[in-house]
Amino acid sequence: MNYRISQRAASLAPSLTLAIDSKAKAMKAAGEDVVGFGAGEPDFDTPQHIKDAAATALASGFTKYTASSGIAELREAIAAKFKQENGLSYKPSQIIVSCGGKHSCCNVILALCEQGDEVIIPAPYWLSYPEMVKLAGATPVILPTSDKTEFKITPEQLRAAITPRTRLFVLNSPSNPTGAVYSPEEIKALGDICVEKGVLIMSDEIYEKLVYDGARHASVAAFSQKHYDATIIVHGFAKAWSMTGWRLGFLAAPEPIAKAIDAVQSHSTSNPTSFAQKGAVAALTGSQAHLPLWLAEYSKRRSYAWQRLNAMPGITCVNAKGAFYLFPNISSLGLNSIDFCSRLLEEEKVAAVPGIAFGAEGYLRISYATSLANIEKGLDRMERFVRKIAGK
Ligand SMILES: *Cc1c(COP(=O)(O)O)cnc(C)c1O
Repeated sequence: MNYRISQRAASLAPSLTLAIDSKAKAMKAAGEDVVGFGAGEPDFDTPQHIKDAAATALASGFTKYTASSGIAELREAIAAKFKQENGLSYKPSQIIVSCGGKHSCCNVILALCEQGDEVIIPAPYWLSYPEMVKLAGATPVILPTSDKTEFKITPEQLRAAITPRTRLFVLNSPSNPTGAVYSPEEIKALGDICVEKGVLIMSDEIYEKLVYDGARHASVAAFSQKHYDATIIVHGFAKAWSMTGWRLGFLAAPEPIAKAIDAVQSHSTSNPTSFAQKGAVAALTGSQAHLPLWLAEYSKRRSYAWQRLNAMPGITCVNAKGAFYLFPNISSLGLNSIDFCSRLLEEEKVAAVPGIAFGAEGYLRISYATSLANIEKGLDRMERFVRKIAGK
């Protein structure tokens, strides 16, 4: 047989984090006491009323194909959310429900980008963005940042990166992996440049509700009609409702783009799971009482972890204002991020993700979506490890 792999698939980078992740899993399976800071998902359970709504739908036989872009009831609830919370008017026909926020991103990129197109992605980035761009045959253009600018790009950086080939700018605030949150003014400044240059914006707002210290999320689409016309918002249920395994995301786009994405989706996955969509309706229209409790807990963990990290010799850490990640700088310790994480796992049984996986050497990603007791235990171990390599 000829197992020739398409260039499209062969161009994808194997996940750098996989090796460490599978090692951590193997160690856990062997009964070792591994503390995991690698999680990219909330540690809370999905709120009960959401599960109940899906269970009821399942029991009542709501188990058939739906419209490929999602049930009308859910798209209406999403439109109402955008109206109430973001001041944005979308018709249900501009909204596509997909099998996760990741699927929404992939749909956007596949529908808009092709060979010869450039997609601007600030680093550190969510590791799937550049790979999706490559899958579409287009070219990722990475804009590096550092902790000196709290991992935010400047308007000048964006302007300088735009060429006649630039098709899309990927904005992710609050950010995975850094937790950075752009202020409304900063978002507007970036949006203004895209509007001026005719560049579309994919705004991944999945961490919208997870912000701390009075930080405010702003959607770039909300600044003017021109901003709205330039923006595709990607969102989902995974983070604010802890529904990662449900595989439900959504996007809102100008009508012609939504139509194209619907066509892509109708020939690839078709609709997201029918009864899961009923759960999502309950997520949007039911009680949001879980959210302030989760935010209070995340906030407590974040403050604790941030203080502990900054107290370690040779480590500095920006206090992130959103999501559930910290991104400490380890560059003064003399190990690259993969070696640091491999040794941290082997010598102290703590799993973290190396910054290089997100396009940023010299850092790690610490997820605090785990209990305070775990965080304390893991950081005690990490401190011992850091003192050992720093010789202090
Ligand atoms: C978690 C996440 C998503 C979406 O995840 P799904 O599980 O596919 O809904 C999208 N973007 C970022 C940056 C994320 O961290």
